[in-house]
Amino acid sequence: MFYIKCPRCHEADLFDTGSFSFKQPFDMKERCDACNEDFFPEPGFYYGAMFISYIFTAFFSILFVMFFHWVLDWSTMVSFALLIGVLAVFFVYFFRLARSVWININVKYEADAVANPRQVVSQGTESSRFGSKT
Ligand SMILES: [Zn+2]
Repeated sequence: MFYIKCPRCHEADLFDTGSFSFKQPFDMKERCDACNEDFFPEPGFYYGAMFISYIFTAFFSILFVMFFHWVLDWSTMVSFALLIGVLAVFFVYFFRLARSVWININVKYEADAVANPRQVVSQGTESSRFGSKT
């Protein structure tokens, strides 16, 4: 999960570029290179990841400032200034980590995922499936 790999096969990366390269930092792959898992199962799928990112950043910030202010006895201003610098550097990683955590909650690991790639479900098949219910 923390290596930001495909949740289903743990083989391919979720993103095209490295976390600290800052090239296209938010461009996620649409599908897994190894097992063809769909990384965008529905529109707005990553709305939930925003909450994970927010909660994670908030807890990190509190612990970070508490550590420097009380443990190392730095002033609050310096602690906050350092926090902002650290958050700026790790912002892309946090963003990606939140998405990785979110898709790992929703997609189960399968040991034989690469041998059994996901079939691409076309829009037509989708609508006919719903149509057959009525
Ligand atoms: Zn995969």
